[in-house]
Order: sequence, then structure tokens, then C-alpha cells
Amino acid sequence: MIYENNRAFAQALDQVDPLRSFRERFYIPQRDGRPLTYLCGNSLGLQPKAARAALERELTTWQNLGVEGWFEPGNHEPEAELAEQTWLSYHTTCKSALAHVAGAEPVEVCPMNALTVNIHLLLASFYRPDARKNKILTIKGDFPSDQYALETHVRHHGLNPTDVLIEIGPRPEERTGLIHTTDIQHAIAAHADELAVIWMSGLNYYTGQVYNMAAIAETARQQCIPIGFDLAHALGNVPLRLHDWGVDFATWCSYKYLNGGPGAVSGVFVHEKHHLANLPRLAGWWGYREDKRFEMTPGFLPAPGADGWQLSTPNIPALALHRASLSITAEAGMGALRTKSELLTGYLDYVLAPFDQIVVLTPSDPNQRGCQLSLLVREQGKALFTYLTEQGIIGDWREPDCIRLAPTPLYNTFEDVWRVGDALSRFFARTA
Ligand SMILES: *Cc1c(COP(=O)(O)O)cnc(C)c1O
Repeated sequence: MIYENNRAFAQALDQVDPLRSFRERFYIPQRDGRPLTYLCGNSLGLQPKAARAALERELTTWQNLGVEGWFEPGNHEPEAELAEQTWLSYHTTCKSALAHVAGAEPVEVCPMNALTVNIHLLLASFYRPDARKNKILTIKGDFPSDQYALETHVRHHGLNPTDVLIEIGPRPEERTGLIHTTDIQHAIAAHADELAVIWMSGLNYYTGQVYNMAAIAETARQQCIPIGFDLAHALGNVPLRLHDWGVDFATWCSYKYLNGGPGAVSGVFVHEKHHLANLPRLAGWWGYREDKRFEMTPGFLPAPGADGWQLSTPNIPALALHRASLSITAEAGMGALRTKSELLTGYLDYVLAPFDQIVVLTPSDPNQRGCQLSLLVREQGKALFTYLTEQGIIGDWREPDCIRLAPTPLYNTFEDVWRVGDALSRFFARTA
């Protein structure tokens, strides 16, 4: 694509964008009656217009049926496919869309709990330290919640995090903040005798780098070390093939690129190869075999597949929001979303290029990034961020010096991206 930095060009790209109608399905936040340029879907995705009706449907079912809502469909579903839906099997209606975005079989995925909760639950199954193998390989400077989860999970086993955690970081001499796939692979091979598990994010929240999950998972498989990914920034953003890559387990949140709402329900992936192993786990009755759950007998019998990691009665209003937003992503399709995303983020890269004051941390290779670009701005980072916000351009600020901007293909436009370049010109002309 040969880009041009002018509004008419951006508008022309919007005209021919096959996904352009999806923007209409979201509320774009406004200020003074004008839509904001919202480039923050990496932090909290926007509200689908369908969300309110989805929530109200379940409120109506509760109103009309009370407890019977678990066993009887609400019977007021406008969508025929959902007409038979009971709360008891509600989670199953998210499965085909989740399987699509995760590159998984439906039996391998299940919406449940919250992300950090799921990290602990999955580590309870996949981190089984013994005298010989007790180490965990991870990414240095990964998302804080992941760091705290690992640190405390290790202590829970009576081990010392400084003895157990092996953190792979950027090469000090490069100062890019990026991490080489080969460095991760070499570390896995070098520590294979003592590694009990690998846990890392698939897409770095700070730099925006997408790791080569397929290659890393393959190395882990060769060394027989279970590997799990935190896909908070990856799901709904970059194409994933968790099943084919042989990833052992994964979890994510759905309030970022999946637009499920603040604190929206998380989900897990557990590869089919583990389904018959009856892995140890921290269990609850919702993970019990569905056909026998209400027999209330002692002795835990896990439901098949990822469902067997559920613990508690699901939050139906949260699942309703999740399902409504997830179905929009699945309808657009990850293939089409990714095609637009590469063009859109490529355009952002292009409009940023003339500004010497800005260093883009995120790799320029499309295979190593999703929507988000992370910008370092010499000295003036905070001032620029404040200026962009005043101009109605919403990104986010990550201490100490990083602006993250994430044009998302579901609801952002090429004109949104053009506006960033336009605002930058004004900012730097003013401060020159
Ligand atoms: C957003 C994010 C989280 C947040 O975890 P919650 O349990 O949902 O609060 C965790 N890890 C990563 C990598 C994230 O990007």
C-alpha cells in the first residue's frame, strides 16, 4: 500500500473498507457532541450497541422465571439460535466464537472467571514442581499482575521466586525493549532439565511486540515443558492457532479487543491433548460433570475439556455482554479484521514516520505486532499525551515515557489515524 498523508486519502480508504459498517455497531464516546478519536481499545474496548439489549434479555428472564432461568429458556430471544438457551448451558454459546478467535476446538475453550484468577487456576494444573524441575521461564517486565501471580504462586509452593523464576529480557546492548524469539528458545533449551513450566504473554503490553508463539511452543514441545500464554492483548487482535501450535494452556480477558465491558469475563484454553489426563486442579462444582452436577455427590469428576476448570456459578449478565460483543468479532472474522488491522496500523506508522522526536518501540514487521504502536517521545512525552487528549485523541500513557495508540479494525477509521498525524504536526510546530 502506498499511503498519502492527507484527509481525502484517509477518507477514500474508509470508503472502500469492507468492515466500515461495523463502526456503526459501537457507541463512540463523545465530547462536546463530537466523537472522540478513540485509540484505546487495547485497554478497554468500546460498548457494542447490542450490549444493553443482551443484558436486558437476562434481566427479563430473571424477572419472569426466577430460578427457573437456569433450566428454562427465557423465550423472548429475538435470535432464533438462542431461543432454547438456558443459563445452565450459557457458556456453551460463547464457544464457537471463542474457538474462532483463539484458533482452538470448541471443547478446548471456556469463558470463566477473571484473567489473573485463571492464571492461578491454570498454574495449579500445569506448574507441578518437584525436586528436579521447579523453575518457571517467563518474560522480564511482563504485565504486573502476571509477575505478582507468579511470585505468589511460587511462594504458595514453599519456594523462593528468586531461585525459581528465569526471566528473559531484551539484549542490554540493543536498547529497543524487544525480545528475540531465539533468546527465548535458547533459554528454554539451556534450562530444559530444571524447567517445570513456561508462562509468558503472547503480546507485550508495553512494547506491543507479538512473540513468535508458534516457534516458542514448538521448542517447549521438543523439550517436553508445558507452555502457557497470557493472551490479554492478543485475543481478537492477532490471528491465533493455539491448537495447531500445540500450546498447552492459555487465558485472556475480554474487555480489551473483545469489547466485553469493564472487568468482563475471562476465558481459558486447555489443549485437547490434556483432556483425558485428569490433571490436578483447584475445582468447584461448576467444573463438575454437567450431567451429574446436581446429584451433589462427593468426589470431583471433571467436565470434559476446558469446562472442567470452571469453579463457580457463572455471572450471567457478564456472559451476556461477552457473548454479544464476541459475536461481532466472530461475524467480522479474524481474517478480515487482521487484513484491515495491518493496513490501519501501517498507516499509523506512516503518519508517525516524519517526526524525528518520536521513536516507535513496536516492531515494524507486521508479524511482530498487532493494532498497537508504542511511542517514546523525547522529553515531551507527557506534554504530547496531554495535547492529544485535549484534541480528542484518546490513547493511554504508560510510565515512565510511553504513549500507546491502538487503532482497532472493528471501529476505528483511517481518518482517525490521519487525525493523529495532523495533531502531531500542530504540536511540534507549536513547540519548535
Ligand atoms: C490487561 C492484562 C491483565 C489484567 O488482568 P485482570 O486479572 O483482568 O485484571 C493481565 N495480564 C496482561 C498481560 C494484561 O494485558
